[in-house]
Amino acid sequence: MNFCNHCGESVSQKIPPNDNRMRYVCDSCGTIHYQNPNVVAGVLPLIVDNDGIEKVLLCRRAIEPRYGYWTLPAGFMENGESLEEAAARESIEEANLKLNKLNLYFVMSLTHISQVYTMFIGQAKNDFSPGIESLETKLFTESEIPWEQLAFPVVAKTLKSYFTDRSNFLSDNKIGVLTPNQVDDFPVHNFVYDVKK
Ligand SMILES: [Zn+2]
Repeated sequence: MNFCNHCGESVSQKIPPNDNRMRYVCDSCGTIHYQNPNVVAGVLPLIVDNDGIEKVLLCRRAIEPRYGYWTLPAGFMENGESLEEAAARESIEEANLKLNKLNLYFVMSLTHISQVYTMFIGQAKNDFSPGIESLETKLFTESEIPWEQLAFPVVAKTLKSYFTDRSNFLSDNKIGVLTPNQVDDFPVHNFVYDVKK
């Protein structure tokens, strides 16, 4: 970052008062430009094909990075939408696929690229086609997954976890929009992680 997006003057890296990290601070107006991780929402779509076999839908990317490689529908959240809305939107954009059930499956922090990757298991009818970001959309059984042609490690991780867990997978949905007056109804984590200094 070189210029302040508030006033257009130059910025410098410095640690603001009462902070402990380097930030971009405007030399003119003093605005502190915080940079935080981006959230990716994605889905592993499960579809029963015309022969009654449950398969996973993959999309072959029509965009860089990793043009031509296979992936699960996923993308960055937009402002103003919920996590599940983002996952559902990405499924429509990449595969013209309407999901009728979503269960949060896992959350992966990709600290090296400052992304939080959230993955749902989704269920849908056998009705899909390539969206503008996809060259091809296709159903795969576990043995048909093109492991060597997957776009990203986190996609492989998602698929491997799913096939490992499938025999005993049964999960309540633990995702929603949380407003302050709903806090008492929301599940509370009973463990605490140490904060890295
Ligand atoms: Zn400024």
